[in-house]
Amino acid sequence: MKPLPPLREVIAAHGLNASKALGQNFLLDEQLLDRIARIPGPLAGERVYEVGPGPGGLTRALLRAGGEVVAVERDRRCLPALADVNAASDGRLTLIEGDAMAIDEEAVVGRGAHIASNLPYNVGTALLVRWLSGESWPPFWKSLTLMFQLEVAERIVAKPGTSAYGRLAVLAQWRSEAKLAMKVHRSAFVPPPKVMSAVVHLTPKDAPEGVSAAILERITAAAFGQRRKMLRRSLQALPGAVEALERLGIDPERRAETLSVDDFVNLARMLGS
Ligand code: SAM
Repeated sequence: MKPLPPLREVIAAHGLNASKALGQNFLLDEQLLDRIARIPGPLAGERVYEVGPGPGGLTRALLRAGGEVVAVERDRRCLPALADVNAASDGRLTLIEGDAMAIDEEAVVGRGAHIASNLPYNVGTALLVRWLSGESWPPFWKSLTLMFQLEVAERIVAKPGTSAYGRLAVLAQWRSEAKLAMKVHRSAFVPPPKVMSAVVHLTPKDAPEGVSAAILERITAAAFGQRRKMLRRSLQALPGAVEALERLGIDPERRAETLSVDDFVNLARMLGS
């Protein structure tokens, strides 16, 4: 990487005053950014997809680590600064101007890419759900390294019996390993958001046999949609669900948050067969 001006100067030079509507909270501390870029593991020669490079802090760190980065940014004000990052990295950055929600990531980055992003909070959860959903598994991505509000990060990695455990935890954990990799203080961002943040790291694991993602999603939506109710009540609208609980030896008087991810998977397998 050829030297680039400090991020603070880049932001001032290009007038990148943060837009709330675009979820812009920039990270400027290069050491912190290098630590985040190490979370996926060695990146030399690896392809990385980044949503929302902004002024390019994380992008630079991913490039310093040796990655080939494809980045999609909605705010065209950032593009000249990112073009400089591309020039300094001998063309290892491919820039796409557009909305990450409307992109076919696999078409632009191929299979086996890492995804790393300090996500815009307004679309972060929707993107995660998209990357974890669908019947086709393993996914196109090799790992996800994503910044969320701490509260969302805790819901992704939550264990049964906790108030954070719900649909997102089951969705994230039934066919991937999900870890909270790093907490990040609000003061690390410019401007600082109201709440703390955290980076989660997910890697795909083998999908359990004979389980439909759509059926599992229907079960968790019903079960956690009325999380204070007994499963007998919350699942009554799903044909066969209460009988399936009994056949699995799960007491229908239990509440959703007491079931393990495996319990939900077994239930989905039984309802799908
Ligand atoms: N990566 C930079 C950093 O860490 O300093 C910026 C992160 S900031 C939290 C989120 C970035 O996502 C902003 O640059 C914003 O313009 C961009 N963004 C917001 N919505 C987007 C969308 N739908 N598609 C692509 N980029 C988006």
